[in-house]
Amino acid sequence: MAGSIKNIAVLGATGSIGLSTLDVIARHPDKYRAAVLSAYSKVDDLLDLCKKFKPDIAIIVEHNAYPALQEGLKKLGLATRAMSGAQALIEVAAAPEFDTVLAAIVGAAGMPSTLAAAKAGKRLLLANKESVVVAGEILMRTAKENGAKILPIDSEHNAIYQCLPVDGKHHAIRRLLLTASGGPFRGRTRESLAAITPEQACAHPNWVMGRKISVDSATLMNKGLEVIEAHHLFNIDAEKIEVVVHPQSIIHSLVDYVDGSVLAQLGNPDMRTAIAYGLAWPERVDSGVAPLDLIALSRFDFEKADTDVFPCLALAFHALKLGGTAPAILNAANEIAVEAFLNEKLRFLDIANVIESTLSAISAEPVRDLDVLLAVDSQARAKAQEFVNKMVMK
Ligand code: NAD
Ligand code: MG
Repeated sequence: MAGSIKNIAVLGATGSIGLSTLDVIARHPDKYRAAVLSAYSKVDDLLDLCKKFKPDIAIIVEHNAYPALQEGLKKLGLATRAMSGAQALIEVAAAPEFDTVLAAIVGAAGMPSTLAAAKAGKRLLLANKESVVVAGEILMRTAKENGAKILPIDSEHNAIYQCLPVDGKHHAIRRLLLTASGGPFRGRTRESLAAITPEQACAHPNWVMGRKISVDSATLMNKGLEVIEAHHLFNIDAEKIEVVVHPQSIIHSLVDYVDGSVLAQLGNPDMRTAIAYGLAWPERVDSGVAPLDLIALSRFDFEKADTDVFPCLALAFHALKLGGTAPAILNAANEIAVEAFLNEKLRFLDIANVIESTLSAISAEPVRDLDVLLAVDSQARAKAQEFVNKMVMK
């Protein structure tokens, strides 16, 4: 039935989540269509995807790459309309032709389009956790007011979503237990992390992901961002959110109820499960993920997260407790520090120092509106950059 096909705007199509989403979409041509594809600057990758998916619109954010996109689409003989600039992301996220928006841009750069999709009352497949960390209250309020359906794609939040009470009776929840793989440096001492390179930090044991989230997983800031994300998505106090290290990454998270029942969602570590769930909800479709083989796995392990070696996790809890604009300051400082680390301009252990210094240098304010957040975001980026410049690598 052609009429029931969902038109999906895939924002961040060339990334890890974007490509996994396109893989699921391609398995169900009768149900889903990639109607919009966006990329930051990789025109050739975007053109390859356009050739395969024939979207209505292709967006390249970098203006310089726009002529190459136009020419490439022409050469391919496609009717796809080329657009460029960050504003184009907001326009397609709001456009009524596209019923579903996959928010898979990395960083706070994804926030304006995520908010636009919420305002337009879309089905919002939300992978871009930074937009929740920065603008959680505004995002959740906007989604509620406009009837948007947020389906968490982050595997932990997708797991919790699947384990929540259907009747919304959250008072029966004792704790949310977020699982963490522990990243590539689990069990290491602080001293042993002094000379970590970007390549080592990006070599995650269980997941293949974009470089920014890979570094976040290595510092445990990823789990910190996820604690803040869970607080907003599920309206749960920080005191009721716990992190447990589970190196196998099979249990994606758990909900502990007051009667002692603990519900978990399990699966192989492959983001296509959460993506397929978001696309098909309330139904389910094949994601291409292999069935779980419990006998082959044979055991699950659990440990406490080490916040002495990985202070970023504690910093995120601290920012959540401070409230207001503090999580936005944390996120901005982290983005600057991680980028500097990836460019070999900052040591691995100094990522946490940059964030801590930035959090102390700027006092948190209440989030009155989006302008407050945008202002604090740029202020924190500038401050964090100053700290990066001071912490020169020897
Ligand atoms: P990635 O680096 O692989 O891809 C990022 C995408 O965003 C690319 O398409 C890139 O072109 C685009 N992009 C980058 N900067 C941009 C900008 N300034 N403006 C517009 N577009 C821009 O990242 P990823 O691993 O796919 O992660 C995407 C998001 O999903 C992140 O927020 C991440 O935390 C979240 N997430 C990822 C995973 C995973 O397994 N990869 C899991 C959970 C959550
Ligand atoms: Mg996650």
